[in-house]
Amino acid sequence: MPDSIDLTQKQYIVLVQCHIVKERCPGYLCEKAFHERTGGFSQYPKDKAYRMLSMTCGGCCGRAVHRKLTQFLRTIAKKEGITKEQIVVQLSSCITNDNYHAPPCPHLDYIRTVIARIGLDVRDASVVSATSEKRRREGRYHS
Ligand code: SF4
Ligand code: SF4
Repeated sequence: MPDSIDLTQKQYIVLVQCHIVKERCPGYLCEKAFHERTGGFSQYPKDKAYRMLSMTCGGCCGRAVHRKLTQFLRTIAKKEGITKEQIVVQLSSCITNDNYHAPPCPHLDYIRTVIARIGLDVRDASVVSATSEKRRREGRYHS
């Protein structure tokens, strides 16, 4: 699917992950998907070196995303002159996708709205397994 966000213009990826899930998950499969440019990262050019940090949503209802991202924007602008136009937020699959463990985050629309109000581009998904893709095609998963 074509991407409306020009990822060649981005320098920095902020990966936001589910706070509850991250109490157990180290996030390795997200990192691997980014490294291999698969799943939600497949549209990022392989030959471009992006910087990336990961943070959790801070717990339900995800409101801390606003504080964390505004603080990040202020600091990175001051330290390095990097602006919001050069940054993209990627929501992890445990937030956006129906999967074996759970349906998507019940606060997904709220989190997207908070990020949009800050003026940052936001994209969905990180790691996407072949099994989940198959179940999605079969209509067993809805996102
Ligand atoms: S998408 Fe998977 S690997 Fe990434 S934080 Fe969520 S559960 Fe962990
Ligand atoms: S708001 Fe969503 S993403 Fe954040 S902890 Fe709750 S369920 Fe997870």
